[in-house]
Amino acid sequence: MSYAFSQLAYIVATALFIFSLHWMSDPKSARRGVYSGVAAMLIAVIATWVQPGIIIHHAWIVIAISMGFVVGVPLSRVPLTAVPQRTALSHSFGGLAAGLVGTAEYFLWLHGEQQNLTTFRMTAIIAEIVLGYLTFTGSLMAAGKLQGIKWIPQRPVTYPLQNVTNIGMLLLALVLGVAIILNPVAGWASAVFLIIIGLALSFGVLLIIPIGGADMPTVISILNAYAGLSAVAMGFVLNNKLLITAGALDGSSGLILSIIMCKAMNRSFANVLFGAFGQVQSVKVAGEEKAYKVETPEGAAQILEEANFVVIVPGYGMAVAQAQHKVRELYDLLKKRGITVKFAIHPVAGRMPGHMNVLLAEAEIPYTDLVEMDEINSDMPQCDVVLVLGANDVVNPAARYDKTSPIYGMPIIDADKAKTVFAVKRSKNPGFAGIENELYFSDKTWMLFGDAKVVVGELVKQLSGGGMC
Ligand code: NDP
Repeated sequence: MSYAFSQLAYIVATALFIFSLHWMSDPKSARRGVYSGVAAMLIAVIATWVQPGIIIHHAWIVIAISMGFVVGVPLSRVPLTAVPQRTALSHSFGGLAAGLVGTAEYFLWLHGEQQNLTTFRMTAIIAEIVLGYLTFTGSLMAAGKLQGIKWIPQRPVTYPLQNVTNIGMLLLALVLGVAIILNPVAGWASAVFLIIIGLALSFGVLLIIPIGGADMPTVISILNAYAGLSAVAMGFVLNNKLLITAGALDGSSGLILSIIMCKAMNRSFANVLFGAFGQVQSVKVAGEEKAYKVETPEGAAQILEEANFVVIVPGYGMAVAQAQHKVRELYDLLKKRGITVKFAIHPVAGRMPGHMNVLLAEAEIPYTDLVEMDEINSDMPQCDVVLVLGANDVVNPAARYDKTSPIYGMPIIDADKAKTVFAVKRSKNPGFAGIENELYFSDKTWMLFGDAKVVVGELVKQLSGGGMC
């Protein structure tokens, strides 16, 4: 009876996980998506708990759930800017859990019912421990880099024959894996099993050290895919269908997200994983230094007031400055004057997927005014003023034609097609890709140098009558 109940519950949980992913893809239904994901997880835990084989282990389950709360509750309270490293930590726990379950199952069967160590199960166990343990250390390193922990360098760390060493190490783990799959109960098997664990743990570290801190969000979603795949393998080992479906959803959504991010950055997987991007931020300055035109907030406010259609392009600088609430005030003031205001959202603006959407949602800007890049670009020639707010690479026209540029081919927001451009940033420093942006030197661009929150605050002051007559 309880078996039939749990299988039915697994189907319900799987359906809820699928709906959850579907609903989370749209801001309107995202909240529902979160609730259905939580409900699915609750059903999964209860349905597993009531299974006959579990009955004698209640205390262990209660301890595990309590420990989950002790770690999970503080993690849920981190600021938004720390979400990427928090996500990496969650993946590392998932990877560790999969690795430990695979290890426990192997040794339990090795010293007990050896007939369970079939070729199929052993293949699943090896996949589970390799993916699980490399996700564990890889995600810990990624979290450390993003958190800026002192002894983990944020810059890519490279050395000669690095890729050969890494791939060689993975191949060695796989060869040893095949050997143990074919001879799971041999005298040397348990020692080789431990060596594979060591190789997977080391591979996770070595995989991450050549990757720059700012590339971490992409890498984290790749690690998410690995964690999902290790859960699938764990599902095969434990013969648990829900783990297989939930792991497959987790793995495929991580993979799809990393593909979307790579495409939006015009990078290949190989380039993200092995390219050591962000290592040398060399700014090309050919010949004499180009001149910027600088505007004051007062002058900019006057031009904004006369516009009919204003587009705000937020970027990483808005996140750094935490300017979203000031931006909301600016948005309200412009709307009050009957001006159409839209936000142009680039898929990789900021440093994590959905970064701008989350910040603007936090400031309660209606999501109907957040327009995706592909949609807003056709309107850019009609735009009177575009306010580039701490964005740089995502509006750099070099992406369209400069084949030598690291962002060549990356789709951009066509800010340069608007009638007037105001660009807010603190200095002449480049953005993530480390390259100059010709948009800032264009005839129609005026720079508003300063911290995004301060500059937008000034614009708000001017528009609300604090400085304008
Ligand atoms: P960029 O990093 O290109 O530019 C950000 C700009 O913001 C800088 O030029 C900086 O100039 C300015 N800035 C920083 N702090 C402030 C501040 N307090 N006030 C005002 N301006 C500030 O950001 P974009 O959002 O345009 O592009 C994102 C980049 O990150 C892309 O290259 C993308 O590929 C990459 N990326 C994105 C990921 C994602 O998931 N979103 C993941 C990994 C990489 P200054 O220092 O002069 O102020």
